[in-house]
Amino acid sequence: MRGPKQILKEIYGYDEFRPNQLEIIEHTLSGQDSVVIMPTGGGKSVCFQIPALMFKNVTLVISPLISLMRDQVEALLANGVNAAYFNSSQSDFEKRIIIDNCLENKIKLLYISPETLVHAFDNWLKSIPVSFIAVDEAHCVSMWGHDFRPEYGQIKALRSHYRNVPFMALTATADKITRKDISTQLDLANPQLFLSSFNRANLSLAVRSQVPKKQKEKEIIQFLNARADEAGIIYCLSRKETEKWSSFLNSNGFNARHYHAGMDSSSREAVQDGFINDHYTIICATIAFGMGIDKSNVRWVIHNNMPKNIEGYYQEIGRAGRDGLPSDTILYYNYRDVVLLNDFVKESEFKETYQEKIRRILNYAEATSCRRNILLSYFGEFNDEPCMNCDVCKNPPEFIDGKMLAQMALSGIMRTSQQVGTNMLINILRGAKTMDLFDRNYHQLKTYGVGKEHSFVDWQHYLNQLINLGLLEIAYDDYLKLKITPAGDEILRSNKPLQLSKPTIAKKGEKAKKAKKKVSSNPDNALLEALKSYRKEIAQQNKVPAYVIFHDATLNDIAAVKPKNDIELLEIQGMGKVKLQRFGEMILKIVEENKAGNKVSKKSTLEETLELYDKGLSVEDMARERNLSPTTIYGHLCKLYEDDHPIDLNRYVTEFEVNQVKEARKIQRNTNQLRPIYDQLKGNVDFHKIALALTILSKYH
Ligand code: ADP
Ligand code: ZN
Repeated sequence: MRGPKQILKEIYGYDEFRPNQLEIIEHTLSGQDSVVIMPTGGGKSVCFQIPALMFKNVTLVISPLISLMRDQVEALLANGVNAAYFNSSQSDFEKRIIIDNCLENKIKLLYISPETLVHAFDNWLKSIPVSFIAVDEAHCVSMWGHDFRPEYGQIKALRSHYRNVPFMALTATADKITRKDISTQLDLANPQLFLSSFNRANLSLAVRSQVPKKQKEKEIIQFLNARADEAGIIYCLSRKETEKWSSFLNSNGFNARHYHAGMDSSSREAVQDGFINDHYTIICATIAFGMGIDKSNVRWVIHNNMPKNIEGYYQEIGRAGRDGLPSDTILYYNYRDVVLLNDFVKESEFKETYQEKIRRILNYAEATSCRRNILLSYFGEFNDEPCMNCDVCKNPPEFIDGKMLAQMALSGIMRTSQQVGTNMLINILRGAKTMDLFDRNYHQLKTYGVGKEHSFVDWQHYLNQLINLGLLEIAYDDYLKLKITPAGDEILRSNKPLQLSKPTIAKKGEKAKKAKKKVSSNPDNALLEALKSYRKEIAQQNKVPAYVIFHDATLNDIAAVKPKNDIELLEIQGMGKVKLQRFGEMILKIVEENKAGNKVSKKSTLEETLELYDKGLSVEDMARERNLSPTTIYGHLCKLYEDDHPIDLNRYVTEFEVNQVKEARKIQRNTNQLRPIYDQLKGNVDFHKIALALTILSKYH
């Protein structure tokens, strides 16, 4: 009989187990119960799927999310495993087929939703021998968890019937009370706890504080330009903001959609499906988005506001990089967010707990030491090695003697009788000439202008630290005024030394470097594109998301290694036997063809632009790289598009703008000249966009 390791290789195409996986599998094979706690993306599925493949009879997988169920079953079928799901979304006919297959012991894994479980049990399930039961998202069984589902309570009732069947409860929840409660609520028999590290080393962490809106927009556009076609999520606090961001991004040539709980369920589902199937790459969402999504190639997550607590934040950033590839996260916040969050919880019975949680995430956001270590310590893991993949580690603060600075700030606050907020204080220290400052006579204070050699942003940085160090407090309940704490008082009056970190200057050219590095260390891009479009084709034929066919990591590997035969292909991570049989021949052919194509020696100017486009560069960056004007680059892109290269012009001009141009052109007697259309549109659409729109229109309309 095949062992777990052999199955891992043959079915999933992986060489090594991740930490704990093998132990969990063996524990189950010996017939015992377990509680498995692993972060999202940690690899829980393998833990119950491999025992399921080794047991004689069917394994039940209880799972609350219908979309997730479907994805997992598709992924299993794609790997040649006989799996099925059973839930309320199916017709009686479909259900009948599954029941028959189960009765004939043809199914290895049956995914079933908790609300159908009891009924199925009473009617047919109890007559079928079951080898093993896995309860996914097991925190749903506990009232203490963040996602309690009453239907989960019914699982316990089945326990007496399945006395000798091993149970496995799986969850990614981090909180201790819930973990404990799971075992009681499911009536597990002396279960072993398998607790995996919550460290997700592939996620980069960055926090940006108090960034003005325009600047934030600029930063995000730059960030996205360096990540063309990579999927990501922007989390916002309010519904309105999700809509604003989505339309802002679309008008800047990106392909974004919004998502929030105020939309009807069919539009929500459409957005979710479109994202999963790579029809659009950016979702601007409230935290309602992502629960049931198992998309493994989300490459980045941005928080537009401060999250409520570290648990939620960690779960949300955890939706990036589930395939283990490097992925980026940025958290933007300002003090207004914190006020808003505190307002939300004011009336709550658990006010103190919630406020403490807000304080903890604020500490994280304002940290001057490794952020990852702060997160991990929150979840009870301790580590003091710097991670080198967070903004603090990459750009460690330099410390200076901060005593003078602190005294300036503190006495500035004193002299205004603690009646000013951050901005006013900085204005006073910098000797600014603003109306409200003069109105309040602050220009006559002794501290007026004492700190003018430091910029506004630098002062923000110093004040942040004074707050972090506990010398100052922000009065969230009193218009964000700054108050001096007893510790601050002491600094003001004693000669105790004080160190502050120097403001870090965002290194110029970092973005450009990053884009370059990605390309050079990376696989052959033309080949990768070819493989991706092949994957898309099969995915569409089979009506499954692309990552069910192959993960990005697998295609990257192929494009880097360029395997020449089946044996080399099997070495690729994620390439199991069934996938080799189904797709191997075609993949080898694509690799071969691309080799031939690559030999063409002299590149035309269009090809050079195409190459940069494929690398994901923005038009501005392409223009810079090639020493041409953006207009010329747009011209190239139009030409390439006309020549049927896969250029997505909608990245630069929205569907809406194309329609505007179409209408204007009609009025201007179908002219193909830009000027009359431009004038007709009263200058609302740029020339280059009109040119792009005309190119699109002449091709399909
Ligand atoms: P979870 O359910 O814990 O969120 P999954 O079971 O979906 O995570 O696994 C996350 C990703 O890791 C999947 O793409 C899976 O194929 C991959 N994976 C799981 N185990 C291994 C392994 N031993 N080696 C390589 N990749 C693995
Ligand atoms: Zn770090």
